Amino acid sequence: MSAPLPTPTGVVVAVDGPSGSGKSSTARGVARELGYRYLDTGAMYRAMTWWMLQHDVDVQDREAVAGQADRPVLTVSTDPDVPHVEVDGHDVTAEIREPTVTRAVSAVSAVPEVRARLVGIQQTAMAGGGIVVEGRDIGTVVAPDARVKVYLVASTQVRAARRAADLAHHAATVEATHASLERRDAMDSTREISPLTQAKDAVEIDSTSKTLDEVVAAVVDLVRSAPAGDA
Ligand code: C5P
Repeated sequence: MSAPLPTPTGVVVAVDGPSGSGKSSTARGVARELGYRYLDTGAMYRAMTWWMLQHDVDVQDREAVAGQADRPVLTVSTDPDVPHVEVDGHDVTAEIREPTVTRAVSAVSAVPEVRARLVGIQQTAMAGGGIVVEGRDIGTVVAPDARVKVYLVASTQVRAARRAADLAHHAATVEATHASLERRDAMDSTREISPLTQAKDAVEIDSTSKTLDEVVAAVVDLVRSAPAGDA
């Protein structure tokens, strides 16, 4: 785990929500605006999945995945302007977005040994605050004491359209992306460990008919009006 930027003072901001709800753009925008670090925990689950696929581990075999979960050496940048993920010294920043990884990631992220390892790295990165952390279980499990918690939602149509645009070079149709999002959200919401769910104290923001700037401004306002403290 590398933290290339000096740790600024500030709170922990948890941004959770389903795929395509705008978490990454929002979390990066908030981090830039506040001079905070940014951690994309989804990229860590994707990097773990990339490693399992490279090493021919059957991702549907929980025991096989659990037995290898300690092996990949992950390095994730916390600079909102330079998203960068390495596994065992290979730059996988682009490869972890490939459809093969996207199809396998929910199975890998449902394995407790995988989560235990990655949550440990995430909590180490969060120490000192001044960080926006994006994922599915940040407000509920990884940072239950986070000073600001946001749960981002958007209509399924808008989420599918956004993800299809992200995947334009894969010629992904909105229909196919829609089906893939629903499948992943269903798996992420129904798994036994740390399912995707809104923390009781999270503020829900619906980005369906908001611009990115409006959503970023709403989260920045929450941070600026948060009570002082060290979480
Ligand atoms: O955010 P992104 O779509 O890149 O996340 C990929 C997958 O990683 C999710 O579908 C989910 O299975 C897993 N994930 C998770 N917990 C997190 C972040 C991501 O289980 N905190």
